[in-house]
Amino acid sequence: MKPSSDRIRKMPKTELHQHVDGSIPPSTIWRMMRRHRLTPVRDPRALQKLLTIQPGEEGTLLAYLDKFHYPLWITQFYENIQEVTEAIARDAAKNGVKTLELRYSPVIHTYAGLTLRQAIRSVLTGLNRASKRHGIDCGLIVIAMRQHGPHIAKILARQAISEAQHLHDRAGVVGFDIAGPERTTPPRLFREAYEVAAKGGLGVTAHSGEEVGPEVVWQTIDDLGVSRIGHACSAVRDPVLMRRLARDGILVECCLTSNYQTGAVAREAKHPIVDFVEKGVPVAICTDNTTVSGTDQNKETALLRSYFSLKDIARIHAQAREYSYILKRPRPSAR
Ligand SMILES: [Zn+2]
Repeated sequence: MKPSSDRIRKMPKTELHQHVDGSIPPSTIWRMMRRHRLTPVRDPRALQKLLTIQPGEEGTLLAYLDKFHYPLWITQFYENIQEVTEAIARDAAKNGVKTLELRYSPVIHTYAGLTLRQAIRSVLTGLNRASKRHGIDCGLIVIAMRQHGPHIAKILARQAISEAQHLHDRAGVVGFDIAGPERTTPPRLFREAYEVAAKGGLGVTAHSGEEVGPEVVWQTIDDLGVSRIGHACSAVRDPVLMRRLARDGILVECCLTSNYQTGAVAREAKHPIVDFVEKGVPVAICTDNTTVSGTDQNKETALLRSYFSLKDIARIHAQAREYSYILKRPRPSAR
């Protein structure tokens, strides 16, 4: 029999939770920073340290989010955003990802003058090209940052709909999400934005239960009507909530390496994905941020070898594909 690493490499994989800004290959960021004369350090190795969590830096979500500042210097320009998106999708395809949902907050890419619409289109152009070149199904989830509040979230939901995949013959926006610090912004604030997104035909997911308890995950389900949840680590502490997730078939987007790095899961603890699977909650194996977390889809999938058989892992990826918000239709031609 082939070694398991080889079988994981060849397994068709599904990526449902990956951020653009945290997944840009460091070499691409270095090249663009040089082009814009913005290099904050002397060489690519020093830059890599600024972009990827280092051993002493683990433990808080804030330290993790701090890694996102540098990529933003170069992702304020249309061509750059398009190019970095293509590079991320190319790497994913190389790792055997067949279905790729990237996510991104357009607002924080408008500081050099791009409109929200352009900020969204630039990613979609990159995804269209990658889809054609690398034979990978792609879609974009638009993120509203929680700290920008519910009104901006509503504006974003409308912008996202105008670029929805079902309205165009190309890769498009497939979903809507909220992300950012959880403690000060309860999910119920975003109820209307989620209604707008769902009525517009987008899939709805939300980051939840990463740094707060299961009561917030309840609110995310009841008030926002999500069909998927990012992380939901704290849900395992509430058996009734676990039954609800299983009963309603709400998929949890699990990001193992990231959860340990942010402290959402204690280093020595078993990852909640095991409980989710045992209790019949659907899951996806996701990278969150390949550059910040120093990981990729094959590494994340391999982490599950300590809990599940290869056959079960393949089944998880196949099931996650069914939960993808990307419409199943022939891939678009490049534009
Ligand atoms: Zn995330």
